[in-house]
Amino acid sequence: MLNDLENMGFPDGKRYSSFVGYFRRKYGERLQKIVLDAGFTCPNRDGKVGRGGCTYCDNAAFHPSYSTSGKSLHQQMDEGIEFHKVRYRNTEHYLAYFQSFSNTYAPLGRLKVLYEDALSHPQVVGIVIGTRPDCVDEEKLDYLAELAKSHIVIVEYGIESCYDVTLKRINRGHDFETARHAVTMTAQRGIDVGAHFILGLPGESRQMMLDACALINDLPLRSVKFHQLQIVKGTRMEQDYAESPGDFERFALDEYLDFFVDMLERLRPDLYIERFAGEIPPRFVTETPWGLIRNAELLRLLDRRLEERDTWQGRLICQKK
Ligand code: SF4
Repeated sequence: MLNDLENMGFPDGKRYSSFVGYFRRKYGERLQKIVLDAGFTCPNRDGKVGRGGCTYCDNAAFHPSYSTSGKSLHQQMDEGIEFHKVRYRNTEHYLAYFQSFSNTYAPLGRLKVLYEDALSHPQVVGIVIGTRPDCVDEEKLDYLAELAKSHIVIVEYGIESCYDVTLKRINRGHDFETARHAVTMTAQRGIDVGAHFILGLPGESRQMMLDACALINDLPLRSVKFHQLQIVKGTRMEQDYAESPGDFERFALDEYLDFFVDMLERLRPDLYIERFAGEIPPRFVTETPWGLIRNAELLRLLDRRLEERDTWQGRLICQKK
């Protein structure tokens, strides 16, 4: 079976392109990301683009306790390394993950100071920068391309949906074309580009989400992350859901596994899958319909479902190699 999977273009023994596997093969080791809060804000909160932010956003729900902007980046790195040491005993090198808010939303001079400070940590070999597609320009990307000649540099855009009607409803403050432009500008400079999408946003049917795979396939992305929509307490999304629950596709775990397999069948096979689901700590969300399930278990269930259905990434859009 392993040989079959390799022949199909999946060298990591999975039925999809695994981002973890890609990293191991490319860099020869496992690299753990350490989440940093570098004190950025977001133009969709401070009034430059909008106020109030995306309707689902509560940044506190998305970052770990060691990462707070009152600490220096090196202190956050050291505490993050300590935090992950139990689970990843053999990890020697790390990626500094600028995750909180919009991590290119500052003048270039400030960005250089922050990124280079993180890279000066003795165990850091690269940076991952999470940002909005409307927070990059040619100058910033030229600098990142230069940096990428000597370090691992990945830019990760929050795209969330391929549909402008959805982006408007969730108050993203940018459209899909802006995302396409940012991804293209980044990839043209040889920088690895990832993107994040949410499955289950209001107004999107399952068919719309499946159809979006063609749009995702057309973007020059190296990797993608998907999350099922989780409704964070106190957000405007919570209110939207209370008022119009019928506008939301909600997935039981078993259904989501099948749905994500349907997505995988439509995604081009060379697109690395970094994440297909995720759990926000229970204290932040209105419900935990999947119980408390760890990412490793979710990945195991996905592998099993792909096997049960004898299918693989890209099966519906290209021929078996
Ligand atoms: S762009 Fe990110 S940080 Fe800004 S409001 Fe939206 S989810 Fe929150």
